[in-house]
Parts: sequence; structure tokens; C-alpha cells
Amino acid sequence: MSSVIRIRDIKTILTQPAQSRLVIVKVLTSEPGLHGLGCATFTQRVFAVQAAIERHLKPFLIGREVDRIEEIWQMTMVHGYWRNGPVLNNAISGVDQALWDIQGKRAGMPLYQLLGGKSREAAAVYVHADGRDPQEVEANVRKLVEQGFRYVRIQMGGYGGQTSDLVKPENAPDGNYFDPRAYSRSMLKTIEYVRGRTDQAIELIHDVHERLHPIDALQFAKDVEPYKLFFLEDVLAPEDIGWFKIIRQQSATPLAMGELFNNPHEWRGLITDQLIDFIRAHISQIGGITPARNLAIFAGTFGVRTAWHGPGDTSPVGHAANLHLDVWAPNFGIQEWYQPSELEYEMFPGLPQVRKGYLYPNDNPGLGIELDEQLAARYPCEEIVEKWTQTRLPDGSPARP
Ligand code: MG
Repeated sequence: MSSVIRIRDIKTILTQPAQSRLVIVKVLTSEPGLHGLGCATFTQRVFAVQAAIERHLKPFLIGREVDRIEEIWQMTMVHGYWRNGPVLNNAISGVDQALWDIQGKRAGMPLYQLLGGKSREAAAVYVHADGRDPQEVEANVRKLVEQGFRYVRIQMGGYGGQTSDLVKPENAPDGNYFDPRAYSRSMLKTIEYVRGRTDQAIELIHDVHERLHPIDALQFAKDVEPYKLFFLEDVLAPEDIGWFKIIRQQSATPLAMGELFNNPHEWRGLITDQLIDFIRAHISQIGGITPARNLAIFAGTFGVRTAWHGPGDTSPVGHAANLHLDVWAPNFGIQEWYQPSELEYEMFPGLPQVRKGYLYPNDNPGLGIELDEQLAARYPCEEIVEKWTQTRLPDGSPARP
């Protein structure tokens, strides 16, 4: 019979090895040498998450038993009474993932074994291609296909397209400007161009990034239908999800949604009414592995597949968590993947490797990833005011990023 192991201390580690500021939680235990890591990365608000962990969760958690993961998740979610906000959900996720990591280490098993074992050996991933014009986008898709990727997300000029010919009013403030209708016209042409020049076996994805008004989103989903995207991502903002019902009735374009979701109310109706095809929550944003496991099972009941959010502002620890869920979940669809730098591989030993478009977990116990804290300390988070989220419509009014 194993003895009771308790939470001895919690450390919040902030680091910025690449563009995104990362928050990693380290849970230390009463067992010498036994610790767990979790992702709590809300890259635009890292200092708020740090304070939530250090000032609120840590005093509540020290001394609790490490194997009561479910109870701790339920208690931390309601301990502040008000709940389901992005800062606290990320803080809770950091602890939750670290406790799953500890549980796997104690069992001597990778996390996917604790979830129910592998449904597949590796997770198919999609990566991002961008460009200034359709030709450059197509050339960048070609390069990724040569590296073995079979699913590629295409954008042109980032989110919202190019904005060089915008007519702004006098005294318009600085910002990240875009014109929703110009974007949808040019992007439609780009999708047509790339689809016509790429092997049909290569699956294409596009992320609208909530840049369209709902009626224009409906038109866009209809217009891209002939190009048979693998999915269209975030065609609506979370505030407009009532429109999914209307889009669904008029278009067969597969729909993926959810990277901004915080609260189960946001996904419940979309899944039970079968209005989306892929749920792509950001796992740390919904509170960690515990709710993500439940969400995967719930979605699977309704024929909705998983496509967890996985860009550079998910930490390597968060990517490891994504991957364990991916290889287990019977209703896995696809995994978004960024291509980490050499520094990130050095800072996070065990960071999963991609080969021929598949991401492979290692078989180390728990999440299978560690953090070189001394190296992380050499790359502190910048104290900046985020620019790309200062988004504006042509007349200068604020828009959702
Ligand atoms: Mg996205």
C-alpha cells in the first residue's frame, strides 16, 4: 500500500524562449524528487496568472494529497465562488496538469495509459502556411508538403488579410487594421488558387479568426464549400455562436470552433445540436486535462472530433498534454502543431517530435516532459503591451482580434 503523498510547494515559472510568454507550474511533493509540470499559459496575461497561482491557489493547496486530482479540480474551480474566467482557469490547469504528471510518474506510466491507453500510435498534425500573395502561400504549402505534412492551414497576410489599400479617417489611431469584406474576397481567391495547384490528398484548413460579421461568415462558409476544406476555423466569434445554426443549414463546410472557450455553456449546445465538427478548446484555458478528458468524451457521443488548440502560445508542456489526449481519444480529429525552436527542445527535454506529419509521444511516465529551470531563467518574459490584439476596422473602431 502506498503512503500518502502531499503537495509540498508550488512554483510558477515564467519564461519566453520564443515569441510567446509561457507560464509553467511545478508542483513539488512530500516525496523527494517527485514533482509534476503543468501549462498555465495565458500569454497576454502571464503576470495575472502568476498572481492567481502564488497568492490564491498555493495557500489553498499546500498539504493536500496529490492523488485527489478530481476533488482538487472541483474545489479549485469553485473555491473563488466566481468561476470560469481565463486567468483562474489557466491557473487551475497548471495545477491539474502537474497532478496528472505526478500520477503518471507514480504509476510508472505515460498519461495516455491512465486515460485508457492508445487508440493510435501518433497524432496527425496540421501546420501553418502564410504568404503575401496566393503564389507565396502556395509555395509555402509546397515546402511543408515536402517535409511530410499532409494537413496545412493557409492564411494570407496573417489574420484579416492585407490592409495596404485601406482608407482610414483623418487622425485614425495606430492599430492592427483590417477590412473584413476585402479579406474574405482575397482569401476566397487564395483558397481557390492553392486548392487548384495542390495534390487533392493534401488537406487544407483556413482560420477566419472571428474576423467576419456573422452574415459575411455565412456567405464565406458557402463560398468556400467547393474547395472542400478539412475545416474552417473560428468562422464566428464566441459572442456570435447562435449563428452556427444558420450556417449549418446552408453549408457543408466542416466547422471547427472553440479556442476562446472558457465555460461549458459555450460548447454544450454546439455539440448536442451537432453544429460543429471539431471542438478545438485550448486545454489550459478550460482548466486542464480533467475537463478536456470530459469534453472529449462528451463530444465523441455526438460525433464531434477533437482538434485541440496548439500554436506557439500553448507551452511545450501544454503540447505534451494535448498529445496524450490525442493518442487516447477515440474521436481524435487532428492536432494543430507549431514547429518549436532548438532552444525550446533544449529547455523542455521530452518535447514531442514530429516525423512525416505525425506527432509521437515518448513513453516516459506522466506527461513525459521536463523543464530546464536554469535555462528558462535566462529567458525572462518581456513586460510589453501587446500590439497585435489592438485590432481596428477601417474607420478606426475597435474590433475583435
Ligand atoms: Mg485559430
